[in-house]
Amino acid sequence: MLVSSCLLGQPVRYDGKGQTLQHPQLRVWQSNKKIISFCPEVAGGLSTPRAPAEIIQGKVITNSGEDVTEQFQTGANIALELCKKNKVRFALLKESSPSCGRNTIYDGKHRGVKIIGLGLTAALLIKNGVQVFSEEQIPALIKALAL
Ligand code: SF4
Repeated sequence: MLVSSCLLGQPVRYDGKGQTLQHPQLRVWQSNKKIISFCPEVAGGLSTPRAPAEIIQGKVITNSGEDVTEQFQTGANIALELCKKNKVRFALLKESSPSCGRNTIYDGKHRGVKIIGLGLTAALLIKNGVQVFSEEQIPALIKALAL
């Protein structure tokens, strides 16, 4: 299973921090070595910390107006290649990120408002048949893995 690195506590977020998911099932998956840790934005060539970015009109733009769509798309492509290479069918991704968001993203105006939407990596993985869940959907992920 592909898992957003920040959920595993790795300090890869735009603010230089991690966001460790406190869920006992995660420890089980980790001890079973079922996890591939991945951060699309770092893989796409962005540094940490970095300017926060949001999706607007199909592009990813930082809060200072820089277009980082290419780096985000590169990260998404690498995520897909990694899934194909390792026959990964499930992903657990960080909600609301412009890369990893599964159900919500920010509205593109850098004002803290969330809307329904997908991050670039989540969208590409779903399009290619990977079942993507957010950290808010662990019970559904456990159920899907058991099928
Ligand atoms: S791109 Fe994904 S894995 Fe990387 S910091 Fe953002 S939410 Fe976490």
